[in-house]
Amino acid sequence: MIKYLVIGDPVSHSRSPKMQNAAFEKCGLSSPYGIRHVKPEELPQFIEYARNHFRGVNLTVPHKQMVFPLVDELTSRAKCCKSVNTLLIENGHILGDSTDGVGLERALMHNFSLPVKGKRFFFAGAGGAARATAIHFATAGAKSITFANRTESKAREIINDITALGSDCICSFVAPQDRAGMLDAIKNCDCIIQATSLGLKDDDPPPFDLELLEANPALVIFDTIYKNTKLLQRAKELGIPCSGGKEMLIQQGAESFRLWTQQEPDLDAMRNGFELPPGGVEV
Ligand code: NAP
Repeated sequence: MIKYLVIGDPVSHSRSPKMQNAAFEKCGLSSPYGIRHVKPEELPQFIEYARNHFRGVNLTVPHKQMVFPLVDELTSRAKCCKSVNTLLIENGHILGDSTDGVGLERALMHNFSLPVKGKRFFFAGAGGAARATAIHFATAGAKSITFANRTESKAREIINDITALGSDCICSFVAPQDRAGMLDAIKNCDCIIQATSLGLKDDDPPPFDLELLEANPALVIFDTIYKNTKLLQRAKELGIPCSGGKEMLIQQGAESFRLWTQQEPDLDAMRNGFELPPGGVEV
């Protein structure tokens, strides 16, 4: 019986069903996690249905912000980053949580042994993923975060929210076309987080001029996209430690699993599930 699912628009590409079912099967539960295409205008109706029919929901684009007013309670980390990617439903009560930030934090530790605390980050992008993860990083003790984004106002909003939390993290914005500013920002960071959607399509341009990477061979690069993007290809040529977004998806999903089951998921089983063809049973 399907009790958990991922919703999004689109959603058929999602790797969450194979990944979560691999973890559930290790706990003796037979594939309880499905998939449902929910359009933005259908979200309120779906949430009311979910209240009495499901135990856990993962939300992907474009629902993570829209679901905010529809839940009964938010965890403090969901409140801070104004994003929800996980619902826990118990006796008709809906709790909204955000596991993207902790997912990326654990992915950096797993892939590069890089802690967030005390480190300087450069974020390419200021959309939903950048917002959730950067706000988590600021609360987890990051030393500084510089945002480069096409739309300055979105980066400024995140910076204002971090400031309002009373965080010591030093935040700034640099326009992607400001070459000297970009060079300075990349020279003075420990880690680049690529959080734009540039790279999802093979003919996308890179998120910034890749020549800038030569300014700082000591950094590490995490691209939130699961593919071998132009950014990752260039980083590998330069010998810069780098990875795609797989481990972030695993770790954010593992945190959802813990919230739902109070059990520790088998991360290797989830990693193997990720490699299977995407999609799942439609609910
Ligand atoms: P989003 O809210 O739509 O944000 C998209 C970001 O990409 C914004 O910063 C946007 O800039 C930028 N962008 C889009 N098209 C652009 C263009 N043509 N030129 C320059 N910038 C452009 O999406 P999101 O939810 O944050 O997702 C962003 C990425 O994170 C996606 O690639 C997604 O696959 C990835 N992600 C990965 C995981 C994981 O677990 N690995 C989880 C969540 C998301 P503007 O603000 O100027 O529009």
